[in-house]
Amino acid sequence: MIRTENLNKSFGKLHVLKDIDMSVYESEVVCLVGASGSGKSTLLRCLNFLEKKDNGGIFIRGEKVSPDTHNLNHVRQSVGMVFQHFNLFPHKTVLENIIEAPTVVKKLSKSQATEEAMELLRKVGLEDKADVYPSKLSGGQKQRVAIARSLAMKPDILLFDEPTSALDPELVGEVLATMKELADEGMTMVVVTHEMGFAREVADWIVYMDDGKIVEKDRPSEFFDHPKEERTIEFLKATM
Ligand code: ADP
Ligand code: MG
Repeated sequence: MIRTENLNKSFGKLHVLKDIDMSVYESEVVCLVGASGSGKSTLLRCLNFLEKKDNGGIFIRGEKVSPDTHNLNHVRQSVGMVFQHFNLFPHKTVLENIIEAPTVVKKLSKSQATEEAMELLRKVGLEDKADVYPSKLSGGQKQRVAIARSLAMKPDILLFDEPTSALDPELVGEVLATMKELADEGMTMVVVTHEMGFAREVADWIVYMDDGKIVEKDRPSEFFDHPKEERTIEFLKATM
């Protein structure tokens, strides 16, 4: 579904992504873990073309995507992103937040977009919140709206950057449950997370990054029970 080849990215003299080769196949869930500053967010932002890679290739469904020849707005429709801080429009209701991109970018009629949005709100368990403003929602509810909003564009792949890190502990579970449901339905997902329980249960693969490199990629049981690299072992000791 998405693949990087020899991806590199620097900010000035700071070399943040070093020769990243990563493949995510259809319906796979990849959890991206690693210490703060290791380059996880930058990698997601490159996959979504929010950040411009320096060199290397990004392939979506096998096709190399280049900012010079592709309409990046179009590419971003196929690669959705859910952020730590939700990024909902505060002056729009929940429903208006969800139908904004489908009506403006995809030119869906308002009634069609609304019908699809209500279906998505049912899916994330918030159909009764369609007409309220984000300020009236808990953090967990806001994040579920943000997930519904991403899904409204019918992405091929959904990227999550620490979707539960800004939440009070008691609200983490409802968001992880929504994400697990999506995974069970076959959504292709790359999830940056510190929730190791979720990673172990839901991920097909764990990718561990350190200092801009992929150090280890393994099945969850192998990764957590028999980590191979010294740095992975140290990371798991510090985390668990
Ligand atoms: P992570 O998400 O794993 O914590 P990031 O991808 O956010 O790591 O950051 C990796 C490194 O790149 C860090 O040293 C960070 O300070 C730096 N960095 C990230 N974004 C920028 C930016 N826009 N400008 C300069 N440096 C950045
Ligand atoms: Mg980050």
